[in-house]
Amino acid sequence: MASELEPEVQAIDRSLLECSAEETAGKWLQATDLTREVYQHLAHYVPKIYCRGPNPAPQREDMLAQHVLLGPMEWYLCGEDPAFGFPKLEQANKPSHLCGRVFKVGEPTYSCRDCAVDPTCVLCMECFLGSIHREHRYRMTTSGGGGFCDCGDTEAWKEGPYCTKHELNISETEEEEDPLIHLTEDMIARTYNIFTIMFRYAVDILTWEKENELPPDLETVGKSDTYYCMLFNDEVHTYEQVIYTLQKAVNCTQKEAIGFATTVDRDGRRSVRYGDFQYCEQAKSVIVRNTSRQTKPLKVQVMHSSIVAHQSFGLKLLTWLGSIIGYSDGLRRILCQVGLQEGPDGENSSLVDKLMLCDSKLWKGARSVYHQLFMSSLLMDLKFKKLFAIHFAKNYQQLQRDFMEDDHERAVSVTALSVQFFTAPTLARMLITEENLMTTIIKTFMDHLKHRDIQGRFQFERYTALQAFKFRRVQSLILDLKYVLISKPTDWSDDLRHKFLEGFDAFLELLKCMQGMDPITRQVGQHIEMEPEWEAAFTLQMKLTHVISMMQDWCALDEKVLIEAYKKCLAVLMQCHSGFTDGEQPITLSLCGHAVETIRYCVSQEKVSIHLPISRLLAGLHVLLSKSEVAYRFPELLPLSELSPPMLIEHPLRCLVLCAQVHAGMWRRNGFSLVNQIYYYHNVKCRREMFDKDIVMLQTGVSMMDPNHFLMIMLSRFELYQIFSTPDYGKRFSSENTNKDVVQQNNTLIEEMLYLIIMLVGERFSPGVGHVNATDEIKREIIHQLSIRPMAHSELVKALPEDENKETGMESVIEAVACFKKPGLTGRGLYELKPECTKDFNLYFYHFSRAEQSKAEEAQRKLKRQNREDTALPPPVLPPFCPLFASLVNILQSDVMLCIMGTILQWAVEHNGYAWSESMLQRVLHLIGMALQEEKQHLENVSEESVVTFTFTQKISKPGEAPSSSPSILAMLETLQNAPYLEVHKDMIRWILKTFNAIKKIRESSSTSPVVEAEGAIMEESSKDKDKAERKRKAEIARLRREKIMAQMSEMQRHFIDENKELFQQTLELDASTSTVLNNSPMISDTLLIALGPEQTQVTEQRQIVTCILCQEEQEVKVDNKAMVLAAFVQRSTVLSKNRNKFIQDPEKYDPLFMHPDLSCGTHTGSCGHIMHAHCWQRYFDAVQAKEQRRQQRLRVHTSYDVENGEFLCPLCECLSNTVIPLLQPPRSIFNRLDFSDQPSLVQWIRTISQQIKALQFLRKEESTFSTLSSDNSESMIELQLPEGFRPDFRPKNPYSESIKEMLTTFGTATYKVGLKVHPNEEDPRVPVMCWGSCAYTIQTIERILNDEEKPLFGHLPCRQDDCLKSLTRFAAAHWTAASFSVVQEHFCILFASLVPNEKYGNLPCILDIDMFHLLVSLVLSFPALQCQDFSGFSLTTGDLHIFHLVTMAHIVQILLTSCTEENGMDQENPTGEEELAVLALYKTLCHCAGSALKEIPSGWHLWRSVKAGIMPFLRCSALFFHYLNGVPAPSEIQVTGTNQFEHLCSYLSLPNNLICLFQENSKIMNTLIESWCNNNEVKKYLEGGRQAISYARESNKLIDLPDDYSSLINQASNFSCPKSGGDKSRAPTLCLVCGTMLCSQSYCCQTELEGEDVGACTAHTYICGSGVGIFLRVRECQVLFLAGKTKGCFYAPPYLDDYGETDQGLRRGNPLHLCKERFKKIQKLWQQHSITEEIGHAQEANQTLVGIDWQHL
Ligand SMILES: [Zn+2]
Ligand SMILES: [Zn+2]
Ligand SMILES: [Zn+2]
Ligand SMILES: [Zn+2]
Ligand SMILES: [Zn+2]
Ligand SMILES: [Zn+2]
Ligand SMILES: [Zn+2]
Repeated sequence: MASELEPEVQAIDRSLLECSAEETAGKWLQATDLTREVYQHLAHYVPKIYCRGPNPAPQREDMLAQHVLLGPMEWYLCGEDPAFGFPKLEQANKPSHLCGRVFKVGEPTYSCRDCAVDPTCVLCMECFLGSIHREHRYRMTTSGGGGFCDCGDTEAWKEGPYCTKHELNISETEEEEDPLIHLTEDMIARTYNIFTIMFRYAVDILTWEKENELPPDLETVGKSDTYYCMLFNDEVHTYEQVIYTLQKAVNCTQKEAIGFATTVDRDGRRSVRYGDFQYCEQAKSVIVRNTSRQTKPLKVQVMHSSIVAHQSFGLKLLTWLGSIIGYSDGLRRILCQVGLQEGPDGENSSLVDKLMLCDSKLWKGARSVYHQLFMSSLLMDLKFKKLFAIHFAKNYQQLQRDFMEDDHERAVSVTALSVQFFTAPTLARMLITEENLMTTIIKTFMDHLKHRDIQGRFQFERYTALQAFKFRRVQSLILDLKYVLISKPTDWSDDLRHKFLEGFDAFLELLKCMQGMDPITRQVGQHIEMEPEWEAAFTLQMKLTHVISMMQDWCALDEKVLIEAYKKCLAVLMQCHSGFTDGEQPITLSLCGHAVETIRYCVSQEKVSIHLPISRLLAGLHVLLSKSEVAYRFPELLPLSELSPPMLIEHPLRCLVLCAQVHAGMWRRNGFSLVNQIYYYHNVKCRREMFDKDIVMLQTGVSMMDPNHFLMIMLSRFELYQIFSTPDYGKRFSSENTNKDVVQQNNTLIEEMLYLIIMLVGERFSPGVGHVNATDEIKREIIHQLSIRPMAHSELVKALPEDENKETGMESVIEAVACFKKPGLTGRGLYELKPECTKDFNLYFYHFSRAEQSKAEEAQRKLKRQNREDTALPPPVLPPFCPLFASLVNILQSDVMLCIMGTILQWAVEHNGYAWSESMLQRVLHLIGMALQEEKQHLENVSEESVVTFTFTQKISKPGEAPSSSPSILAMLETLQNAPYLEVHKDMIRWILKTFNAIKKIRESSSTSPVVEAEGAIMEESSKDKDKAERKRKAEIARLRREKIMAQMSEMQRHFIDENKELFQQTLELDASTSTVLNNSPMISDTLLIALGPEQTQVTEQRQIVTCILCQEEQEVKVDNKAMVLAAFVQRSTVLSKNRNKFIQDPEKYDPLFMHPDLSCGTHTGSCGHIMHAHCWQRYFDAVQAKEQRRQQRLRVHTSYDVENGEFLCPLCECLSNTVIPLLQPPRSIFNRLDFSDQPSLVQWIRTISQQIKALQFLRKEESTFSTLSSDNSESMIELQLPEGFRPDFRPKNPYSESIKEMLTTFGTATYKVGLKVHPNEEDPRVPVMCWGSCAYTIQTIERILNDEEKPLFGHLPCRQDDCLKSLTRFAAAHWTAASFSVVQEHFCILFASLVPNEKYGNLPCILDIDMFHLLVSLVLSFPALQCQDFSGFSLTTGDLHIFHLVTMAHIVQILLTSCTEENGMDQENPTGEEELAVLALYKTLCHCAGSALKEIPSGWHLWRSVKAGIMPFLRCSALFFHYLNGVPAPSEIQVTGTNQFEHLCSYLSLPNNLICLFQENSKIMNTLIESWCNNNEVKKYLEGGRQAISYARESNKLIDLPDDYSSLINQASNFSCPKSGGDKSRAPTLCLVCGTMLCSQSYCCQTELEGEDVGACTAHTYICGSGVGIFLRVRECQVLFLAGKTKGCFYAPPYLDDYGETDQGLRRGNPLHLCKERFKKIQKLWQQHSITEEIGHAQEANQTLVGIDWQHL
């Protein structure tokens, strides 16, 4: 060991070298005072090893510490060489069944929704994969760090607690044995000694508070005089503030400052200066001064270096202890003992206590180290976990107090460990009974909320910032309470009962402080000045909601507890209401012969509060009593007689009236705070313990009261008593000139009151209220949600209340009520309500918001219409009430109720004025319906002997009694049935009458009175007739309405066209213009179609007339006309790249003439296909530019396009564009001089061209020498023999109009500028090359897409692509006319020389390094510059054909040289076919030329096969190219996918089917050429294996393969650490979907400079990988990111879906996610089509906030 270290150690300190671990340990073994000995050793060495300079040197320090400090301890502990000792220990150890893996930040964790006891129980990935839960409903989350794997904890899992790795052996029992029995006595003693000393040392030094002085036993003489200026972390200051301050205070660079800030943020502290005291003190004062302005200053300390050194070692030591105990459970047990041993100061003085109690004073790094040690020691040993839990509970109050003062997040506080004990059921129970934990938590909580009003209630108004901060922190206590309650006890001891009820008392005290808090008074006259604080109270309520529910759950488990709790709750409620009637005078109400006493109280005038947790808790307990039946068996145990129903209902009723009044607009002046409170009161997050319970409380009250009395009190609270007790109210209000607002208000209040009655009777779906179970309740919720519309899983989950386990119970019932519809390529999967469930629909379902109610009504009526049913929505049949609530139904047939119903019907019948409303009537009808349903059920379920007391039908048949003597309700309904103004409600009234008759029948069949039967029959008969007439009338109405609508619509359409004339015309003409393009393909019979050469099929291009989208003028595309242009977007592309490491280094020097076959950087052109006049476009662009400049000056906002870079949006479709392409006629027909002379053969042609080139070279040389020497050189002129017909001085006339010429330059320059990323320079000789290149590259990309999608080459291109390719090709072919003549000629000469050698052009790329299609395009398109000077009669098309043949042959040779002829096992021994023989012969020639280097001759069959496959993409591209160049339509065979594409392509391209024939026909020249191609150093090098080359056919690029299971990506990302900050976990790991690189995004550490700007890792990567465009997956967010350039970006839906067909952006739901291949393909297609930038543009236009994001920092 020592020998390895020597060379390093030598250089550092002689004394360290002399140190031998074995010797030191030996000395220690002999020592009498071991502690002194060890401390002396540490005092001497620690300052020598640690903190020797301004920056830490972890490697050196670790190495030395191991050698000098830890080594001796290990020797001492083992009693021998630890290299042998530890493995022995490990072997003897019987490992625990707990996994205990501590989670890293971002690591995936899994919880089983079926088996986990609570959601905090999680598994690590490894354990999860080996567990049974894989097959269950699991949840996946990413860990925030901290916490550990619960595998093996039998208390955490209902089933399958062990994974396969941690499973118990069969022989093993679960019983615990003492782990110390595996250790020797000696070993135990030594371990005990050393652990005691070291643990104490670490604790002492870490909690040491002096800055300049060491503990006495560590002080040394002659210590150095060096200090550190230590900067500490806080959660107040931002990164930017710290960085800025540091740059000022310690004169460091920004980069260093970022480094410091990052470390401070991660570790909690970092020294920022090293030196003498003064020097450090100075930095400290600058930092403090600079950061104290607005907030408290940053914490800085000047510390002596030796203290810092000992603290560093202290931390190292804790880590070391953690790893040592990993060897043996025995060692771990000893460490636990040492840690919890009581210290000298008695209770709470153990080392563990000391650390915990200092927690808030320690810095982040120290905390996390010791927390981790606790987790791997105390929490892994079941015996000590219990003891530790007790210590924790004893310290609980103090720890929480410290936490309140601490400004660190809870995650780094020791209080966060609570989850480890409190969620373990037995521990929690033990802590409740032994440490009275429930009470402690609640009391601690109350202690921290001291701010109260005079009644002792919480008051949040006028909170200071500090109080608000504390309030946020104190909420974590509620979380602790939740943990304690989360697992419910199965059996109760008396102790537990006692302690629980004590806790319940404390809890009631807490709720008492909330009962009636934040009271409000109606504001009249003036609007409130300031919105009162309301959020804090609701936050508290929301946080407590689960706790309140859990308290009830606990009570429900034990009758004794339940009864006690009920009594306690009732007592507290009475306390709250004592003085209930104070100052409120009693009054007497009477109606319909009933009278009741109540108090005078008006919600609209006095204080009212929404917070009534005590009442609501009592309501909850009451329901539980009802459910448990204890109430019937032992009624004497209950204080039911003490209940005063009017008192119970008073406050909940006030609260409900408040809601009604707010809805009626009476509280408008109280502002938004009230509206918000009402919203949350009904919201799914709160309603379970607020609104729902208020309804239950009223139901409780009604069931115990005379319903008439209840209704009268209710009328009074709604402030409607006057209206119903005054006869002829309706008439009076309609006749008199009353205040409309008041009437309106009263109408709303009446509606609300009726709604409340409907709810009281109808809401019986809580177990205990009605005879239902929990599933029925959820089913009903889901049915009503889905009645609104089909919903996605996540929407449903959001609409249902979650329990503390985040479960809604939905999964268990959803199949029964809904069908799942899978999602398509976009959107999500939806649940649709099963048709048979619509009968359970209740229009007045109490959880509907008003908007939901009207949507549901509409949807349900529509459904009924579709099914051709009548549209009545009668109340559903309801389950019966539980006995305690049974009497509630009588409210429906009570006298007051009938009076209310009768009054409203009367108003409706009178139908005068506005003192009634349709919805009022609708509610009355609903109530009548409910009563009828009730009666029907009673009759159906009644047993012989009992009497049906529900006699609603009889009561409504009787006419009203005095004084009004109104007609009976039934009679009024019959009247209303024919009222023309109640069309909508007719179906409902008819339903009521029908049901009424049905009930009558039942009654009569049971009794014996046949008289009424006939009457009923007549009624039914007449109603049948009525039905018929009614239907007819309705049909007529419907017809008329339809006609009216049609008339309206056509009127509207006319208007619309008038207003949008331009747009309309445009669309019409657009359609026309596309159709002309289609008609352009002339009808040519299916004779042989040939695209090029002298044999080319002659087509006459029809006149092309297009319309400008801007000025709407038509124009023909002609050479001498004004230019028409297409909006176009040019971009660099690496989509086809086969080498992502290559990019253009120096664009100024880059020569693009030859494209390398790796296609590493191309230029792509796309277009939306919209046509404009060139001058119209220019005007438009100038306007956009001017507008943008003004806007930027004014608002400094960004746009989705960069005007300065020439970008604009297509004026029609808003597609991002950056230039325009001119529309042209086929250029070949303009330049080709028809000639009928004999055309030369390939050999002749090459010879002629070579001669012409020579002549040109000669002339060029002449020119230059002429100009330099200025001598007459006519002699040499004579030497040159000009080839026949060649006139190099000839300059052709440019046929194009000025406007077209200008556009040729514009697009050419744009391509050059974007493609090379250089400043525009139209003179640059590379401009034409870039144009040809873009043409070739774009054709290649489209060929690839068609190939990958297995689509035919022609016939399937979208119109815009067809237009774009045509214009692009024609433009590229015409561009030479806009460029310098000699430049183009020179390009041609060089290109030509790459195939036909010319000694003047050396150093051209070899045949392996040229992309042949790019070469073909450039050659063909530059050739006219030479050909136009040739008057010998050779036509342009002949040249095209020969160029094509020549390049094709070169490509074949290229393929043969590079085709990796893998050993073919196929037995194709004898070549038989013509092609095979020919290709074999050619291969032999190659072998001959290339020497022996070429591989053995493979079979001819194989060779031919590779040639055919390799050349296909080239042929397909060529076909596209010549098609667009010459306009010859494609033969029908290649417009469909077929088998013999190859033959048809060959014939279209004027090639022999046997391509090798080309060589045979021209063998004379080809042998020479082949030799020259092969006789090249690079080729030789390749054949000898000295370099690589691209082989053919090149495979299409795809995005990387993604795993099916998303969690494997999360795991991959959690193992990824930031490449720049040495092993730190990356915060936003982001995967490049193009190349698979993982990046550390959105973080300071990985910012780099790009073109003078700081950019994040993703943006930097796009420049390397995608020439500015990137597609990433943000792994933690599960979100796709598109980036383009530095300023553009957007998010895109990820290709991962859960089982419900939904994405989970942000991973909030945690359902298992799987790859959706179709969606991923869609993203891939966007990429392959170069549509990423366009997609971003559209996203940014649609969502302006995307424009503001600093994409470059991602
Ligand atoms: Zn595990
Ligand atoms: Zn496991
Ligand atoms: Zn499970
Ligand atoms: Zn125009
Ligand atoms: Zn467009
Ligand atoms: Zn990449
Ligand atoms: Zn990083």
